Amino acid sequence: MNISDFRSDTVTRPTAAMRDAMLRAEVGDDVFGDDPTVNALQAFAAERLGFEAALFAPSGTQCNLMALMSHCQRGDEAIVGQQWHTYRWEAGGMAVLGSIQPQPLENAPDGTIPLAAIRGAIKADDAHFARTRLIALENTTGGLVLPLAYQRDVRALATEAGLAAHLDGARLFNAAVADAQGGDPWAAARDIARNFDSLSMCLSKGLGAPVGSLLLGSKDFIARAHRVRKMLGGGMRQAGILAAAGLYALQHHVQRLAEDHANMAALRAGLIDAVQNNARLSERVQVSAAPTNILWVDVDASLIDALKRRLDEAGVRVTGGRYGGGARLRFVTHLDVGPAEVRRAVSVFREFQ
Ligand SMILES: *Cc1c(COP(=O)(O)O)cnc(C)c1O
Repeated sequence: MNISDFRSDTVTRPTAAMRDAMLRAEVGDDVFGDDPTVNALQAFAAERLGFEAALFAPSGTQCNLMALMSHCQRGDEAIVGQQWHTYRWEAGGMAVLGSIQPQPLENAPDGTIPLAAIRGAIKADDAHFARTRLIALENTTGGLVLPLAYQRDVRALATEAGLAAHLDGARLFNAAVADAQGGDPWAAARDIARNFDSLSMCLSKGLGAPVGSLLLGSKDFIARAHRVRKMLGGGMRQAGILAAAGLYALQHHVQRLAEDHANMAALRAGLIDAVQNNARLSERVQVSAAPTNILWVDVDASLIDALKRRLDEAGVRVTGGRYGGGARLRFVTHLDVGPAEVRRAVSVFREFQ
């Protein structure tokens, strides 16, 4: 059976051309700074995104942790969103490994955390309080794009309060492609990046590399992060094999994220139409907005098991399930799903009874 894998953009496999770039990569020992391909990837990303330096690491989780531990000392505090990866999805790493106190704030429906809430959470210089040191944002967040004006406002607030600002840009280029509206995604990415002291981004999601993320920032910051990476066990040796895939992805797979967004728009329109015309689903399924490559489908708890089973039988893989009193499915489009997979997913909803 053909599988339509909408679980995540992390499931992408390297293309033949990417594997070829990996095969031909020149390598050295990156712990000594000797790997020419890792160095080329770091220099390329830093230059194109407007940072002084960059560092290649195995995962986005590790890049975020390197950033948190490089900005904050033991007993410092980082302001984060309740739903964000840095707080919710990294196994408590900042607290466990960094002795950093997270200050989570509720996310608004558009993904932002309101400026007034951030302002209200910044602690005064008082011996009772942790030292507020960092504000971290996430873009895209749950597939939503943070408004550029909001990111500028957070930057201004951080500067005014003497805080550093970090962006978890695991899907930076999905945000940039959406912001660019057909224009240059690199220019849009720079417009986002200039609001942050540091930025992490994944090469292994929509960009299609098998492994790897980048952390970007000033030379001093990246030197501190380099020590943290060693501490976390993230120093790799002939990592150029992996960096070659990342470099290939940045050079060839950025523009094509627009195809993932177009496939998502088709999936969303198809699902809305299928649900409206299906008597069993029409009052029981809600399809969210999906400006990039992630879509949430809220499903009445009474239907979720049958719907999941029908998707499984059709080879359509998604994540999600019951939570609280309801249920939710998540669809993600990427390099390895196209119009045929979208049609298959839509037909499950159309034919569901
Ligand atoms: C995927 C992701 C990360 C990093 O995940 P890894 O699997 O560790 O590479 C970080 N932040 C967000 C928002 C993500 O979606």
